[in-house]
Formats: sequence, structure tokens, C-alpha cells
Amino acid sequence: MADHIFPIHDRLVSFKDRCQRLNQRPISLWFCGLSGSGKSTIAVGLEHLLFQKGYTTQVLDGDNIRSGINSNLGFSVEDRLENNRRVAEIAKLYNMSGLITINSFISPTQSIRNKAKEIIGASFFKEVYIKASLKTCEDRDVKGLYEKARKGEIKGFTGIDSPFEAPENPFLEIDTEKHTLEVCIQSLFKAIEPLIKI
Ligand code: ADP
Repeated sequence: MADHIFPIHDRLVSFKDRCQRLNQRPISLWFCGLSGSGKSTIAVGLEHLLFQKGYTTQVLDGDNIRSGINSNLGFSVEDRLENNRRVAEIAKLYNMSGLITINSFISPTQSIRNKAKEIIGASFFKEVYIKASLKTCEDRDVKGLYEKARKGEIKGFTGIDSPFEAPENPFLEIDTEKHTLEVCIQSLFKAIEPLIKI
């Protein structure tokens, strides 16, 4: 760190006091999965459920972030890493403020997700694999992107001409092919409730 930087972390309202005020323990759920696997849909549904139960959350979603703070980044390996690095730093700030974050990004490689875990901290970071086969995601083709990728109009599209590595040891795996949206949201809530409840 440069000589002229003087962090003031030690003088701020404490993490413990913030958590007590919000009556929750923060974590960062890190959703990963192919485009169309259900990350955004589940993030939105889970956030509403958590809100209704009295929890304070923040959803960080790929398209929202890419249209704002990360609008200068593309989809090269370096840019994907930088995209996820910035999001992890933002999630960490939210966690330090006592908020629960739901991060919804393809985050295609284990090394990208490990980097996020390193930044956020292993005790806060909860990797969730939102699982659906390429075939299902392609059939859903929510945004018409698979069709474009197959035609070669989008290059480096995850699952088509860019790899996706399934998580090796996720906190949770949510199979959106086998279960309804409602069941997916409920099983996530059940898994995290003991972690976030004071
Ligand atoms: P992603 O954010 O991963 O790109 P989206 O959430 O945008 O994916 O799209 C997922 C699509 O799959 C939506 O059209 C959604 O309605 C549908 N879908 C079907 N079953 C499920 C499920 N169990 N969970 C989440 N989405 C589902």
C-alpha cells in the first residue's frame, strides 16, 4: 500500500453493531451457472422471500453490473476476471455493512470463483451452483443469446465456444431442471436460514 494511504476501518461503526441493528448475519451467496440456468430468476425470488422475512439484502446481477460500474468490461478471460473481482469487492463492502448479498454471475471458472471467495472471505462466501444442462438453457434461450452464439454472432459465449467449469465443492446445488422455481427458492432459504439468523 502506498505511503500516503491511511485506512480508517478501525474508527467506523463496528461490524457487530451493524449486524445487531439489522438483526442478521451477512453472507454472500455466489450463484454460478450457464446463461439461462435460472440465476437471476432465483435471485429475484429469494430476495423477495428474504425481504418478506425481515432480512436486508442486495442483489448483484450480471446485466445490472455490466450496464453500470462495469460497463467498460467485455467478455475476454481478463475482463471476466476483473468483472468478478469488482463484484466481489462490492459484495464484501455490503457484507461489512451487515447486508446479505445475492450475486448472480455466470462466473464460469473455478479460479474466478476462488478469487471471489478470497476477496469476500471464506466464512461469508457461499458458492451455489444453479444447475441446468446446456440443452435446457438453450431450449429456454431467455434472451435469444444462444441462437446468436450458434450463428457466430456472439463470440466466446459460455457453453458454446467458451468453457463452463461446474463447481467442485459448492455449498449448495440447485437443479432448475428437476425442481420448480418455488422449490428452488425454498431449498435455498432453508439452507441459509441457520447461517443468517441471529
Ligand atoms: P440466468 O440468470 O441464469 O441467465 P434467467 O433467470 O434469466 O437465467 O432465466 C432462467 C429461465 O428459466 C427463466 O425463463 C425461468 O422462468 C426459467 N425457469 C424454469 N424453471 C426454473 C427454475 N426452477 N428456477 C429458475 N428459473 C427457471
